[in-house]
Amino acid sequence: MNPRQVIVVGAGISGLACALRLRELGVTVRVFDAAENPGGLISTVQHEGFLFESGPQSFQLTSELRELIHSAGCGSELVEADPRTPRYILRGGKLRPAPMSPPSLLTTSLLGLSSKVRILSEPFRRSQPVAGDESFADFVRRKFGTEILEHLAGPFVSGVFAGDPEKLSLRSSFPSLALWEEEYGSVIRGAMKSRGQGEHVRPTLASFKMGMATLLRAIAQELGDAIASRVAVSSIQHGPQGWMLRCSGSANAETVSTSALVLATPAYAAAKLVAPSAEGLAKTLAGIPYAPVAVVAQGYRREHVRHALNGFGFLVPRTEKLRTLGVTWNSSLFPGRCPADSALMTCFLGGATDPQILALDDGQIANQVHQDIGRVLQISAPPVAQHVWRHNRALPQYNLGHAQKVAAIRDDLSALRGLFITGNYLEGPSIGSCVLQGFRTAQGVQDYLSR
Ligand SMILES: Cc1cc2nc3c(=O)[nH]c(=O)nc-3n(C[C@H](O)[C@H](O)[C@H](O)COP(=O)(O)OP(=O)(O)OC[C@H]3O[C@@H](n4cnc5c(N)ncnc54)[C@H](O)[C@@H]3O)c2cc1C
Repeated sequence: MNPRQVIVVGAGISGLACALRLRELGVTVRVFDAAENPGGLISTVQHEGFLFESGPQSFQLTSELRELIHSAGCGSELVEADPRTPRYILRGGKLRPAPMSPPSLLTTSLLGLSSKVRILSEPFRRSQPVAGDESFADFVRRKFGTEILEHLAGPFVSGVFAGDPEKLSLRSSFPSLALWEEEYGSVIRGAMKSRGQGEHVRPTLASFKMGMATLLRAIAQELGDAIASRVAVSSIQHGPQGWMLRCSGSANAETVSTSALVLATPAYAAAKLVAPSAEGLAKTLAGIPYAPVAVVAQGYRREHVRHALNGFGFLVPRTEKLRTLGVTWNSSLFPGRCPADSALMTCFLGGATDPQILALDDGQIANQVHQDIGRVLQISAPPVAQHVWRHNRALPQYNLGHAQKVAAIRDDLSALRGLFITGNYLEGPSIGSCVLQGFRTAQGVQDYLSR
């Protein structure tokens, strides 16, 4: 066995970012993934001139993502959207611009006078964080009131986590809000300070000319035959020389050894693998809840959509009583997403507050979307093309107690020499956070192998 060989299980963005960085650090790496193609939650489908995305529609171009794109050699394919592109929130059946800056919080038609007074006075009503873990909803109600929770903060949370604000932990899901209250007694003061220090420059929103899968394909190409698709790891075992993996795939089942092992799978899959070696760790990993999401991409003839679609798309507060959580106007964000006479939009349903959505079949989900958005966007004919994805366990929920779970995972892991984990359930679900985590994990593996 090569003493500097590492196996990464999982070829989503977390595993691929980790694997490519390991290779750059001079480590021999192999990647196994159970699926047909690398990418995990990210895939792009081309259909009659439309570019449908199965999960993420874009990403914030963080410095780590820039590095990864550079290493994968697909920088020339990058397309960027204007970060000031307007977003909307539905209130009373009408789309209203979402406030994108502190002054616009005071002029927005989304909020009434008393909420605006609460925003204005918040810097002067200093407070300290409550003891223990506080839910995102309790925090927003305590600092700003119910209207802001229902019509601004709540929809935002469903856009990022597909989460339930009553259950999400403030500290784990939005750590900077908790930090600002702790340091300045006020989130508005904190936000202004971090802006002043240049910490809060809104990163560019980006994708690729041929969709999100471009990045995954470019990394996979770079890694070449180090990646094996359709190889599911069914068990792992710690031995004197490192880790032994039992794999089943297109070829016969085989056992493979490695000096270090990275699990870049979802938490529930990692739980099954570590169960025989570390029961406590498995229990903690299995205890991270996931929310289901249905993704519906729909192509319309442009003449059948009356709305100008001038922006990113819109979010839907639960009080509007629609099942659609949010809509991205893909063809307004990036060029080349659909034929010139058409419009492409992608809708998200389900999440932690509506897990029953997946009880519907694909046709019913698509009809639900058409019914929900048809009225809002004044759509006069059915879509000419559509694709539905059902993610049973789409996004990990950073609920109350999440920070303790992550600390326990890290603690238990330190006793398992040569085993590492990375993924979207640890330090943030965004693609940028997954890449950052993947790079850090690669560095941790390299340090371990050098010892
Ligand atoms: C609907 C939706 C919309 C989103 N929108 C955005 C967005 O707009 N912007 C953004 O930044 N982020 C977004 N995200 C979040 C982001 O896409 C994910 O957090 C990220 O892609 C997760 O990557 P990952 O590699 O950690 O996990 P995954 O993509 O889940 O990859 C895990 C991989 O592990 C493999 N695997 C599992 N078990 C085994 C096993 N036993 N053996 C071998 N292989 C195994 C799986 O096949 C899979 O390929 C969105 C997510 C969803 C679901």
